[in-house]
Amino acid sequence: MSNRFIYINACLAIAILFLFSCNDSSTNKTQDSNILFLDSLIGTLSIEDKVGEMTQLTLGMLCDGSGPYTLDEPHTLNEEKLKTAIVDLKIGSILNSGGHSYSPSKWNSFIQSIQDAATNEKTSGVPVLYGIDAIHGATYTSGADLCPQQIGLAATWNAELVRKIAENAASDVFESGIPWNFSPVLDLGIDPRWPRFWETFGEDPLLTSDMGEAMVLGYQEGPYPIAATLKHFYGYGMPLSGKDRTPAWIPERQLREYFLPPFERAINAGAKTIMVNSGELNGIPVHVNKKLLHDLLRVELGFEGVLVTDWEDIKYLVSRHKVAENYRDAVKLSINAGIDMSMVPTDLEFPGILLDLVKDGEISEARIDESVRRILNLKQELGLFENPIPKTSAFISEEGDENNYTLQAAQESITLLKNESEALPIDLDRKILVTGPTANSLLALNGGWSGTWQGDNPKYSNSERPNAAEALIQKFGKDQVINFPLEMDFDEYDIEKIVSETKLQTPDYAILFLGEMPYTETPGNIEDLELFQNQKDLATALKSTGIKIIYVFIEGRPRTFNEIESIADGIIMAYLPGDYGGVALSKIISGEVNPTGRLPFTWPKHASSHIPYFRKHTEDIHTDFSLNAFNPQFNFGYGLSYCKASIDSITIDKSSYLIDETIELTVTISNKSDCDATEVLQVYISDLVASITPSVERLRQYKRVNIGPNETLDVAIRIPLKDLGFIGIDNDYIIESGSFKLRVNKLSKTFDLLKE
Ligand code: BGC
Repeated sequence: MSNRFIYINACLAIAILFLFSCNDSSTNKTQDSNILFLDSLIGTLSIEDKVGEMTQLTLGMLCDGSGPYTLDEPHTLNEEKLKTAIVDLKIGSILNSGGHSYSPSKWNSFIQSIQDAATNEKTSGVPVLYGIDAIHGATYTSGADLCPQQIGLAATWNAELVRKIAENAASDVFESGIPWNFSPVLDLGIDPRWPRFWETFGEDPLLTSDMGEAMVLGYQEGPYPIAATLKHFYGYGMPLSGKDRTPAWIPERQLREYFLPPFERAINAGAKTIMVNSGELNGIPVHVNKKLLHDLLRVELGFEGVLVTDWEDIKYLVSRHKVAENYRDAVKLSINAGIDMSMVPTDLEFPGILLDLVKDGEISEARIDESVRRILNLKQELGLFENPIPKTSAFISEEGDENNYTLQAAQESITLLKNESEALPIDLDRKILVTGPTANSLLALNGGWSGTWQGDNPKYSNSERPNAAEALIQKFGKDQVINFPLEMDFDEYDIEKIVSETKLQTPDYAILFLGEMPYTETPGNIEDLELFQNQKDLATALKSTGIKIIYVFIEGRPRTFNEIESIADGIIMAYLPGDYGGVALSKIISGEVNPTGRLPFTWPKHASSHIPYFRKHTEDIHTDFSLNAFNPQFNFGYGLSYCKASIDSITIDKSSYLIDETIELTVTISNKSDCDATEVLQVYISDLVASITPSVERLRQYKRVNIGPNETLDVAIRIPLKDLGFIGIDNDYIIESGSFKLRVNKLSKTFDLLKE
């Protein structure tokens, strides 16, 4: 068959699709037309076309420069490299920026040229699928507003808002001509040492599932839909060493109990793609684990979308994991395990190796067809055959406070953890000292994946957005603020200078911006969770001047700081609050906004004692055998507000239930003040006796409620009994009859689940 003939066939296939979908709108007919379209298209493709479709390269491979990581500025496509990759090797997918953000128009011109090569010059005419990490807003699109990182979004406990945030991010990504986003992260943030902790929604499976589902729906079902990617499947977030991409030992029961539910929910919500965990799980690199990638994901969970590797992970099977002797064996193992697309991304060998494996009969063509069908189906669903580059004016710029979801998310995430003698808020006529290594940095507010991978280059920051110190100066006025910018490695001389200036100028408060500067993945590995010594020394030295001390943590993981906890009058956790973090903090510190964030993780008191709140009873046993060993700095779900509501009573409709019934819980909550209060009602349930040791308690439901001044509300919360099960001895989900305790704040009720 001549190449030209194949191209004509591909066009015919597209015509079939149009004919069907234009003439009949019923779902079945559309599905039939899709199948016909895919069948007819796949029938026209050569094996070379197919292995090309399964290959993903990084943009740097198409640009001028001495290597994919060393591009000439400004980044420019190289005609020859473009032709080799797209036309000759028929590469089906490109990802990433060449190293930093671009304007939407630059993105459009890159992708237009790539699509022109794919659709006009490549024999199959199949458009390229472009993917990007837009993980807290459009990371690589200059001018896009960056919202709080996932750990902060989880602290809002507001899934509806998270959906809006994802919709807006999708608009900005879409505007850049990109239809595929490598987000959300659904790993659990269970070990705070792990440098990707801040990319998660925290430690709880239910909160993570709700947030993940909201994000998937926001990306995929908003006005400018793009494909979401669930990552990283699975068991990535709890490596033994706490370091990135190091071995995890997690038994199947625990995997299913804690780590699987967020993926399951997001798959059911229609997530179109999944990225594989780079690490090894129980001794097997996940990229070669057919039991997980095929039996669990495809057969059991029914996932029909595209499964992409993580960065260079097939090669790492040889160079890091040592489960394959050479690249060819690694390709064979991973493709046979179920990988659809290899994020190669920096060499041109993959398609040739895959082709040889198919020709030699070591990988069947049927296996290849399965993956190619999924990839083409995704391209089809994203509308790439009709319009290879989405063109629109979707770009969102949120100025001002109205309908500014990015600002709202920052405000709702920031969590007040201590407020001794109502030290906060601070009146605008007070004099404040603003210092600490994260005070004068917009980079610190955004963290990793911001303009660049590591988020550490100010050149690619959104210059219009103020850092924390600038926002406080805007809010309190220049004369009220003494600002001492510091670098991370400040020393005793800097501390002395700040202390003597404090004594001279006698501010009322010292607001210390503590925490970490940006990092992403392995560069963020740490040896110790404890806060940096110089930051603790700064706090101690300033306390000796007698002024009130407020800590504001700008960090993606809870660094331990018990040694200096008692000297703080106020403590705020801001997480990585994004471009509007400075403004949001200034509003909270000054009292214009009531803080309502609640911790989505347990904040350990000691660097080596990090266990999640859903611990087992034996973890409560102290050295003196009392039951108070679990004593974190701050509990999961904890957070204070200036304007408080109180929970007066809780009632449940019955004292015993059958399995298919639902607990009707009523929480009476009142606000006895003149301000607007918001409370996050959290319902924890303890299974008192079970065949698998029960957790002390588990979050089973929650609700964020607003209560007006002097208002009392009865809030209804429903908890189906079937949600109270666990993964039993045979690794299946079971629900056992018996007694349970339900707790909201300090109030509790017991009830029984009866045998049928
Ligand atoms: C990360 C992924 C990311 C990919 C593509 C990898 O290093 O682990 O989360 O999506 O790079 O940029």
